[in-house]
Amino acid sequence: MVRLDAALAFSALGLGGVLAHPTIKHLDTIKHIDRRVCNLEERNPLVHKPLTSRATIPKATTWDPPASMVTGLDQQTMKENPDGLKDLNWITDQLMVNKGNINYCIRWANERKSTEAARAATVKALQRSWQKWFDVLVGYDGFPLTEVKINVNGYGVKDKSLLEGSTAGLNIYTDVDSDGVPNCDTRCYRGAHLDGDLSGCPGGEQNRYDIYLQLDKKLEGQFGGFGYNWGEELGPDYFLDNLETENIHILLHEIGHGFGLLDFYDWVPEGQTSFVMMAGSATEITEFDAWMLRDWWRKLKAVRGW
Ligand SMILES: [Zn+2]
Repeated sequence: MVRLDAALAFSALGLGGVLAHPTIKHLDTIKHIDRRVCNLEERNPLVHKPLTSRATIPKATTWDPPASMVTGLDQQTMKENPDGLKDLNWITDQLMVNKGNINYCIRWANERKSTEAARAATVKALQRSWQKWFDVLVGYDGFPLTEVKINVNGYGVKDKSLLEGSTAGLNIYTDVDSDGVPNCDTRCYRGAHLDGDLSGCPGGEQNRYDIYLQLDKKLEGQFGGFGYNWGEELGPDYFLDNLETENIHILLHEIGHGFGLLDFYDWVPEGQTSFVMMAGSATEITEFDAWMLRDWWRKLKAVRGW
C-alpha cells in the first residue's frame, strides 16, 4: 500500500507530463489491435484524488443507474468506439464462452526470480481482482454466471531457472515474440482461435489460455501499464510487491480495458470525480465503473444474443 499511496501522492504534485493517448501495437498473432496506454503519472492533478473510504456498489438487476450518474454514463456511451461490439474477444466474451473459467498465461519479461509462493499469490491476486469486476454483473440483466475461476496454466520465460521451486501443473514456454518478449504458445491462445478450434494446441484444450499478464521490466518503476482484451502489462515491481494488496488498482484498471472500458485522460463525465477507469482518481472499482460495465453487458447481450 505504501507504494500505491506514494504513487498517488507523486501524481498529486502534478509532476507528470503530457496526456497519454491510445496507440496501436502489433502482436504476432493479433494484428491492428488497440493497446491502451495507462500512466497514472500523466493526468490532471486538479481533477483526480484518491478515495478516502471504501466504495460501495449496490447490487442491480436491471439498467437503473443512480440519477447522479445518468448524464455521465450517456456521455461515455457517446465516446465508445461503435465498432467495439464487433470485437468478439472482450473479457465478457471470454467469460461466456468458458462459463467463467479463465486460463492465464504469465509472460515473465523480467529477470527477477519467480518463487513458488509468489506464483500461488499471483493466482489469488488475479482471482481477487477479477472477482471485483465480475461481482457487479452477477444477478444483473440476465448475466448467467455466478462464479469466476482464474487459473494460471503457463509461464513464458526466457530462462527456466528463473522459476524456483516446483512448476508442476504449469506449461513452461521459452519462446519469444518478435519483440523478444517471452511468449506463451499462441497455438493455445483462444483469442487467436475464436472459431474455437484449438486442435493445434499441444496437449489440447487443457492448455488453452484466454488472456495473459505480462510483467515487463520496461515498466519497472512506473505506475502505469497497458491493458486490452489480450491482457495486462504491468511493472514486475508494482505487481509483485503488491500481491497481497486488496485493490491492485492499476491491475483493476487494465482489466477494465479488457472488458472494453475506456480511459478518461482528457475529459471527465459530468458529476464524477473518482472511479478506477479514470486513472489515478480511485484505488478501487466504484459504482460508476460498475455501471459502465453493466452498460457494456446490456449492449453486448443485445448483439450477441445472450
Ligand atoms: Zn487505461
